[in-house]
Amino acid sequence: MRTNTDYSAYIPEYCQLVLGILNDSGYEAYVVGGAVRDIIAGEVPADYDLATSALPEEVSKAMRDAGIKSIMDHAAKHGTITVMADGHSVEITTFRTDGEYSDNRRPDSVSFTRSLETDAARRDFTVNSLYLSADGIIKDPMKGEDDIEAGLLRAVGKPELRFAEDALRILRALRLASTKGFMIEKATAEAMREHAPLLKNISGERIHAELTGIVTGKYASDVIREYVDILGVIIPELLPMKGFDQHSVYHHLDVLEHTLAVLDGIPLEEDGRRSEELALAALFHDIGKPETFYIDKKGAGHMDDHPEAGCRIAGRVADELRFSNHLKENLLQLILLHDEFVAPDRISVHRLMVSYPAAFLDKLAILQRADILAHSELGRQRIKRLEAITGLRAELTAEGACLSIRELKISGDDLVAAGIPAGHKIGESLRMLMNAVIEERISNDKDELIGYAMKLFRENE
Ligand code: ATP
Ligand code: MG
Repeated sequence: MRTNTDYSAYIPEYCQLVLGILNDSGYEAYVVGGAVRDIIAGEVPADYDLATSALPEEVSKAMRDAGIKSIMDHAAKHGTITVMADGHSVEITTFRTDGEYSDNRRPDSVSFTRSLETDAARRDFTVNSLYLSADGIIKDPMKGEDDIEAGLLRAVGKPELRFAEDALRILRALRLASTKGFMIEKATAEAMREHAPLLKNISGERIHAELTGIVTGKYASDVIREYVDILGVIIPELLPMKGFDQHSVYHHLDVLEHTLAVLDGIPLEEDGRRSEELALAALFHDIGKPETFYIDKKGAGHMDDHPEAGCRIAGRVADELRFSNHLKENLLQLILLHDEFVAPDRISVHRLMVSYPAAFLDKLAILQRADILAHSELGRQRIKRLEAITGLRAELTAEGACLSIRELKISGDDLVAAGIPAGHKIGESLRMLMNAVIEERISNDKDELIGYAMKLFRENE
């Protein structure tokens, strides 16, 4: 919590400008929602939303009269006007109340109101229902400040009604718990569980946005452990992971606990989140285990094809939740290779570096490290191999190792000039040269390459 409670100091200039214009025109205007929550909690808000008693057309007029040039009113019907103030885009939403929710997703209609209390009542959680005026006064009709202090997420009004209206709020709650560390108040959590099946009515894109927040948040493992039953509505294959005994000397944890330990092992980045790709890869890397599991005659558990099964499951989820192609491809590749370790020698590692971009191998190494460290003492010994591979990658990179045919110090034209006939022989020669460089039979030096190419050519004639 902040010790300096003159909260006006935390409102950026460009928001003060817009609040000032609205106040000078005789309207109430506030910073609202997540930004106020973050300011009180001592964090820096990601963005600032404004709420006002002015009707959308009144907002537009006040802005125009004050000389604001860029005023976008395409969402005026829902109460939102977007303006550019000092180069920042700001959303100004009129106090409103939401009509019926016939599809558990969106209000069928909205109506505007001059009452801040009425506006507060349509918001999702008490901690998101705070209003901060330009002069630093907090309005808190839902007692959200007490809940911020207690670290509690509590639905505004009757939780059952609020989650039935809009099931996405269930995932918003998990996202806020994961990114901000809120605990979820008991009646709110119960209503979330009860209404979780309604998540089936929510679009893939909207689920994806919240799922990203849930898996990348600092407290993701705690939230997934406690609410795996809710996440199981979206990804049913998570459910059998809980309590699934691997019957393996390499594992001391069940599949879900192992998975959460891997997720915890993915480092937080500068913004306090994990990379989405890596967090999802951690979540899905062993999701194929329960369905591929069998016990051999000696009583040991095996799950040989679990990376392929995991790819299939993650691929389906990626399509359902509309992941970008880039995210999907990288995610599946990470899952597929998470258990693969090349021999820790220069040639094998060089081949690996030729096959995959460095950025991908960096990510794979982070995942593999987190995975290995979430094994039993015996399983953790594999870390030596990973470290040897990583060391060899660094060594080869420092040497400027040749990573593609394009990086060979010779071209097809050079080979033709040296007397090798143009055509398919050239491509074949370049591939053989690349292979000889990887295997360290020759170095990537023009004279050596030409000499070697001519020798091969003569031998094959
Ligand atoms: P973030 O810090 O990620 O921006 P936020 O709480 O500001 O979190 P937004 O999606 O920016 O989330 O929404 C702004 C505000 O609008 C929320 O704080 C909340 O008051 C209200 N709100 C957003 N989505 C809903 C919803 N589905 N139901 C009710 N109120 C909502
Ligand atoms: Mg926000």
